[in-house]
Amino acid sequence: MFIGHYGPAFAAKAVVKTVPLWVLFVAAQWVDFLWAGFILAGIEKMRLITNFLGLSPLDLYYMPYSHGLPSAVLLSLLIGGVVAAFFPNNRTAIVVAVALAAFSHWLLDLIVHAPDLPLIFNEMKVGFALWGYPYISVPTEIGFMFAGLWLYDRHVPSATRTGTIALWVFGFAMAALQVQNTFFGEHPSTPEAFAQLALVAYVVLAVLAALVDYLRKEKRPSAKR
Ligand SMILES: [Zn+2]
Repeated sequence: MFIGHYGPAFAAKAVVKTVPLWVLFVAAQWVDFLWAGFILAGIEKMRLITNFLGLSPLDLYYMPYSHGLPSAVLLSLLIGGVVAAFFPNNRTAIVVAVALAAFSHWLLDLIVHAPDLPLIFNEMKVGFALWGYPYISVPTEIGFMFAGLWLYDRHVPSATRTGTIALWVFGFAMAALQVQNTFFGEHPSTPEAFAQLALVAYVVLAVLAALVDYLRKEKRPSAKR
């Protein structure tokens, strides 16, 4: 899953409003950041096979450290704890919300991936393979993202009209990116190039999330009447 992971990131922001949206964007893709790093380092392995599952070329045959269930749980708690350490108040809620946003990555991957998510070590792999039906998986993914975005907009209303517009434009741009990437995208030819592209996309989207978050804040409280 790609864009759908940002649904839980947006939803978490509705609960822990003090945590910047970009941090939650990073948390929601945290295991994929590690996965991309492990692919580049040769620690985890994948093959790119045209139309391996539906339109997805990803044969993720070895990723026990980033996407194994026990590691995903530990990594989620770790990022929850690290993020909470930066905030003086509300730490328990932050640990829980950030850890859940991070762990939602594994659950959403479970829906779409081929059986490549190991329950233990590199064994007992699960995945419901919805990517085999891209005309179902893409709307599902976009639906998750917009559901979270809507919750965020509702529970953390923008102080500026620009902020509201920016958020929805961002949402539609991400939906378009998902459609483009699934149906019209040229996939990179090597695992390393794929991992690099993923990292660039996750970083750019996190930066854009920071921008949207910024645009939604009241700039001059003193000017408020
Ligand atoms: Zn993943």
